[in-house]
Amino acid sequence: MIPPRWRRIASERIRILFRLAREESAKHPERSKRYVELALVIAKKYKVRLPKKLKRSYCHECHAFWRIGTNVTVRLNARERVVSYVCKECGKERRYPYGQEV
Ligand SMILES: [Zn+2]
Repeated sequence: MIPPRWRRIASERIRILFRLAREESAKHPERSKRYVELALVIAKKYKVRLPKKLKRSYCHECHAFWRIGTNVTVRLNARERVVSYVCKECGKERRYPYGQEV
């Protein structure tokens, strides 16, 4: 059993790492990926769920932190009601249904 206090600290660290990932993603993409990876390791270890907002902010394949318009293409598919994110670094596509609020 993981004490709630640890998990709180873990979520705090995850938020910090994602912030760093965002800040570094333009100039130091590799460092930024590393921050995302560290955040994921912490999330796994302490069984912390990532908020949806963070879950959709990076590539689940190559861990690049996404900057819309730069390293990711975001498209709405109205017929299927999905938002599609295509990572420009590895080409992986991720789709999320919309209609339900984030
Ligand atoms: Zn990718």
